[in-house]
Amino acid sequence: MGKIVALCKRRGFIYPSSEIYGGINGFWDYGPLGAELKRNLRDAWWRAMVHERTDVAGLDASIIMHPKIWEASGHVESFQDPLVDCKKCKGRWRADQLPETKCPQGGPHDYTEARPFNLMFKTSVGPVEESASISYLRPETAQAIFVQFLNVLNTTRLKVPFGIAQIGKAFRNEINPRNFTFRSREFEQMELEFFVKPDAFVREGERTVAQWHEYWVEERFRWYESIGLPRAKLHPRVYEKKELAHYASACTDIEFDFPFGRQELEGIAARGDFDLSQHQKFSGQKMEYFDEEAKARYIPHVIEPSAGLDRTVLALLCHAYDEETVTDEKGQSETRVVMRFAPRIAPIKVAVFPLLKNKEVLVTKAQAVFRLLQKHFVCQWDDRGNIGKRYRYQDEQGTPWCVTIDFETLEGAKADAPEFGVKAGDKETVTVRDRDSMKQVRVRISELVTEISKRF
Ligand code: ATP
Repeated sequence: MGKIVALCKRRGFIYPSSEIYGGINGFWDYGPLGAELKRNLRDAWWRAMVHERTDVAGLDASIIMHPKIWEASGHVESFQDPLVDCKKCKGRWRADQLPETKCPQGGPHDYTEARPFNLMFKTSVGPVEESASISYLRPETAQAIFVQFLNVLNTTRLKVPFGIAQIGKAFRNEINPRNFTFRSREFEQMELEFFVKPDAFVREGERTVAQWHEYWVEERFRWYESIGLPRAKLHPRVYEKKELAHYASACTDIEFDFPFGRQELEGIAARGDFDLSQHQKFSGQKMEYFDEEAKARYIPHVIEPSAGLDRTVLALLCHAYDEETVTDEKGQSETRVVMRFAPRIAPIKVAVFPLLKNKEVLVTKAQAVFRLLQKHFVCQWDDRGNIGKRYRYQDEQGTPWCVTIDFETLEGAKADAPEFGVKAGDKETVTVRDRDSMKQVRVRISELVTEISKRF
């Protein structure tokens, strides 16, 4: 993990928040590469969960909502972790995550009794700080979906079974943020609430609640594979009956083998009609759905795949990190650090280099190639240092392809012969270097976009 954290800082994936002021525990900033990586992941989730389906619509709700929502959802009363202090060193921990270290004051820690600590961040809305104006930064994105259930239903043509998806910030005042971004106090969630018929209304050939749950577990596994995480590192953890909340009928976590152990990426829960029923009770608004085929009204049941965007970014960073020993033409060995991101997720797709920075003809040609590629892919320009150094730099960024404009390119340009029907540029070639194999091939500029697209 030390190496991954160092690379994230060195290359601009992730920085500690507020670093010049000494940082702030549990908060992180995504640098230029991290911002791209996170975006690609967010887009991949949205594409798979919303755009490529006909039965899911998106939502983008506010972070601060009516405080009653958190009473209805149960967060005010029970979204809490057990907190203990050490009476000697004043350290604070979650009672189920105690440190293995000795007390800095000597001997073992001297713990207080565990007491409940609510993880929601409180804030006050409006200019007067009084209890009536207390609200919370949302600790999950899901509740907004339940609260907007009727609006989405009434403004779209969706029918049960259907889902509402949302990606957005969530805040939890975690007692011990740790494992880099894995447990942060501000993070992003990607959540789907998929509303299905209660089993009593399910007809021949339709999925039951349990079958919808299985369906979503499998869909989600396939999605993690599609972004480059191998099945072998992903594991289902099926909850036992006694672990389930009273309203839930099933829950399966998808866990990933992080360097610090096997940990949760996502939870997929079958939550019954608990959430909509609670909001019906607390708001006084009927949350029922009229099923035309069944000629019946019911509160739909819900399957909730709930994933962490930052945790998935971290999983991708951990899985992509690789070191290998390479030997150059002179027989010298060195360690190559390479981030082996799947190309569709890589922050930068193509780097473009003029072989030499001080040769104007090379630079001009390279700029033209850069402008051409930039229309199709996220590209980066680099003309600093020697070519070997530029490759290493791009390897650490995980850029799948580097394109170099060299003297052979210019030779090809000279060979243009319009009088023989050869179009200008047809013979101009560039070097395309592959991140993983380090192989270099020559590709015609006129075919570059097609060639690179083919490799995705
Ligand atoms: P834990 O038991 O680890 O505190 P949880 O089971 O309460 O987490 P959920 O409420 O199911 O987590 O949240 C859904 C997803 O949101 C998690 O699978 C995770 O990916 C993400 N998530 C939750 N808490 C955090 C956090 N503090 N930092 C980063 N991501 C988080």
